[in-house]
Amino acid sequence: MQSNELKIFNTLSRTKEVFKPVNAPFVGMYVCGPTVYSNVHLGNCRTFISFDVVYRYLMHAGFKVRYVRNITDVGHLTGDVDIGSEDKIGKMARLQKLEPMEIVQQYTNGFHDMMRVFNTLPPSIEPTATGHIVEQVEMVKEIIDNGLAYVQNGSVYLDTQAFIGKYPGVYGKLSGKDQDNLQTETRALKNQSEKKHPSDFAIWVKAPEDHLMHWPSPWSTGFPGWHLECSVMSTKYLGSPFDIHGGGMDLQFPHHENEIAQNFSACGCAPSNYWMHGNMLLMNGKKMSKSDGNSVMPEELFSGDSPLLTKGYSPMAVRFFMLQTHYRSTLDISDGALQAAEKGFKRLMDAYKTLFALKHSDGSINESEEVEITAACDACYTHMNDDFNTPMTLASLFTLVNKINTYKDGGSVVSNISQAALEKLQQTFKEFIEDVLGLKEEASTDDKIVDGLMELIIDIRQESRINKDWSTSDKIRDTLNELEVQLKDGKEGTSWSKL
Ligand code: AMP
Ligand code: ZN
Repeated sequence: MQSNELKIFNTLSRTKEVFKPVNAPFVGMYVCGPTVYSNVHLGNCRTFISFDVVYRYLMHAGFKVRYVRNITDVGHLTGDVDIGSEDKIGKMARLQKLEPMEIVQQYTNGFHDMMRVFNTLPPSIEPTATGHIVEQVEMVKEIIDNGLAYVQNGSVYLDTQAFIGKYPGVYGKLSGKDQDNLQTETRALKNQSEKKHPSDFAIWVKAPEDHLMHWPSPWSTGFPGWHLECSVMSTKYLGSPFDIHGGGMDLQFPHHENEIAQNFSACGCAPSNYWMHGNMLLMNGKKMSKSDGNSVMPEELFSGDSPLLTKGYSPMAVRFFMLQTHYRSTLDISDGALQAAEKGFKRLMDAYKTLFALKHSDGSINESEEVEITAACDACYTHMNDDFNTPMTLASLFTLVNKINTYKDGGSVVSNISQAALEKLQQTFKEFIEDVLGLKEEASTDDKIVDGLMELIIDIRQESRINKDWSTSDKIRDTLNELEVQLKDGKEGTSWSKL
């Protein structure tokens, strides 16, 4: 099925490398998930859609993938100096007068809903940071025991200078930073002076008095450092080293760099072999970011309720729009680009429908036409094998769209290619559009109205039967019979279909 080997751009080596899983056909993939203190923005969605395609293609290529994506639900003190010592989840809890875990639940639910709307597959495991505090405390102990962390006033810091001495060339390699630029995010902590060196970073933080989310530990009542959860949960479920670690480009430093340092410090090896980073979704040329207020909510995009948009766009048109750009390139969102994507998506899906309505009939075979079709089908694999190149894959599918449209114009009967070539074309379309790219036909407004009306009719029929109002239930049955609509009563309720 595969026309060549899968190559992945590895941030660590900055080259495309042939993908060799540790234990083929099994593949372990970890992607940093959302911090659940507000609704996901479209930039987050882009990253998760990019890795959804990676997950889907790996499975399509025959790998048995365990996909782990975490939920960051510990209130971290990150680089946001403006929020002082208050963490984002705690701040939202205080503002909304809710429990921190209510905030977490509310936005986790919203995140899941949005992932479903974009037709992304759920991960195999979705661990939470708060569910793995014990393991995080264990890793801090290991790092201290290995002499690579020190305790100061109840907080624990990774000793970057000792680390660099023990593992030369590791710290800074992923992000390409030199020693002078490796100072990390702990500037939000008040006690900078606690650190032996500016680049040291907290792996356990003593909680300030008013900090809502905290746990006991041998060093203080506190909470784990921001990077620790991913070091712990990735290797707990995938072993070490595992195959692919992913996330947005903005996480390369300090998050992923520090994760690597933690894993080496605890067990002497890197967490993963391939590091993949998705590029940023930009808005007005700047990274889309919740904390900067420079973001569009997916709901606004669907409804068109934004001064930046002339209309709303469907989730699948937005997904298609994102896949038209390679995951390692930046993507600038604009109304014009979305309009073009909407047209392109419709053209693709129209051709997909047409393709399955085409009839084959024997005729004289046009060899070059067959070669062209086979080549475009195979090219879908070649492009996906080339570091998941979705724009080029779509370009090959559009070469095929042109062919399909000529068959349609010619009366929807295909006679100049073999039955086998037509079937290959159909299979390629189905597999790449649905399975790999995760695109699907959206229900039209008319379909949604029909579904709603049928639900109402089924409810009325149910009530009339309970009330022994046989004339109403008979009338419903007879009318549906005339319309050739069949009702089927089952354990899960009543369903309907067209005869
Ligand atoms: P966060 O909820 O901020 O921790 O981010 C969750 C994921 O979304 C991470 O992998 C980030 O790298 C990614 N992300 C954040 N902002 C953007 C953006 N503007 N474009 C693409 N990905 C982003
Ligand atoms: Zn992470």
